[in-house]
Amino acid sequence: MFEAVLERLRAAGWTVPGGRQRTDSTHVVANVRTLQRLELAGETVRAALEAVAAALPDWLLGWAPAEWFTRYGPRVDAYRLPRAETERTALAVVFGQDGFELLERAWAASAPPLLRALPAVEILRRIWIQQFYRADGQVWWRERKEHGRPPAAALLASPYDTDARFRVKRTKGWTGYVAQLSESCDEDHPHLITYVATGPATEDDVETTPRVHAELERRELLPAEHFINSAYISAEYILAARDQSTDLVGPVNEGNQWQNRDPEAYDTDAFLIDWENLSAICPQGHPNTWSGTGTDRNGNPRVQFTFSLTNCTPCPVRARCTHAKTAARTVTLRPREQHELLRELRTEQVTDEWHARYGARAGVEGTVSQAVRAFGLRRCRYRGMAKTAVQHTLTATAINLTRLDAWVNGAPLERTRVSHLSALAPQTATP
Ligand code: SF4
Repeated sequence: MFEAVLERLRAAGWTVPGGRQRTDSTHVVANVRTLQRLELAGETVRAALEAVAAALPDWLLGWAPAEWFTRYGPRVDAYRLPRAETERTALAVVFGQDGFELLERAWAASAPPLLRALPAVEILRRIWIQQFYRADGQVWWRERKEHGRPPAAALLASPYDTDARFRVKRTKGWTGYVAQLSESCDEDHPHLITYVATGPATEDDVETTPRVHAELERRELLPAEHFINSAYISAEYILAARDQSTDLVGPVNEGNQWQNRDPEAYDTDAFLIDWENLSAICPQGHPNTWSGTGTDRNGNPRVQFTFSLTNCTPCPVRARCTHAKTAARTVTLRPREQHELLRELRTEQVTDEWHARYGARAGVEGTVSQAVRAFGLRRCRYRGMAKTAVQHTLTATAINLTRLDAWVNGAPLERTRVSHLSALAPQTATP
């Protein structure tokens, strides 16, 4: 429906390729409780028992321990659980043992096959693999990564929505999803949603950039300028977008080494690079002793230069160059085209002209606000990513129809509200 409406709008000239667009995301809260790990363990057994009790009550009554009916009868709530760490760990082990017992009985040769087909029992099996293990005849809670806990992107956060993931971003933690919205922002056209997508909460914004461009290209709506924040940008994607005649506009980061944050330190820009001969000169005028190409841990191509211990050990400015106790300085760079592009952009993005141009991105915050406050985008009405994606797609369609209506009827765009106090503030006042 979203695509059909968008296609009509494009055919009628309400939105055009080659214009300006902007993208942002927002968190979306799943239609389930956010569970602490101990709650998750107890609630997962409870959900499985509830399903078994409904499907095969006689089978369950034939063997279920009496204490299970009180332990898993009411919902498992944090405020009823112990606070002391040792008691919590002990209770986690009890939950673990109960879950394993139910799974063993479900997979016994004599168990009714229907049992293993119950989704809640399968979810118990999956969550138990992630949360518990057995060794030396005991059940153990996987408390840390060293115990084999999977990464957050794989961790099931609720037995009632297996697509939802838990994430903490800055100060906000939530269980659920992330919604991506792109909109056109040309002055002489209505601002319409051109892309909408739903992903798990753990998905990083940067992963969506190539998907947005692929979809916009397929819809013949690729913009000439695409405004995004730093979470979406990378040198690879800027170059790839240029191949599609799109200028990806957003702040690139200053690098994630300590040398990038210390103005006195020697970051990679302090080294003179000869790309033709793959050699480098350090700030003290010494040449590298080794260079080579390879990949980082994510498989991205990198170029590395290593300097000599003979020069680095007695170097008078060593503290500004490396924190290594004994090793010589190594410099790792992106491939030449990406490296030079980032240097150029870092210089450009501090200018007033760049900031004036980048100001076009800010309006997308208003679109997210409209989607959240007027259309309830941030609250899942359903469980599971597929249904949540349908909700978001229909929401985007409704926003487009509402905006077209407002445009045709000459309704002005909302302006950012300025408080009475801010309006009174002298122009020269500082916060
Ligand atoms: S520490 Fe090594 S690489 Fe760094 S400036 Fe000194 S000699 Fe050059």
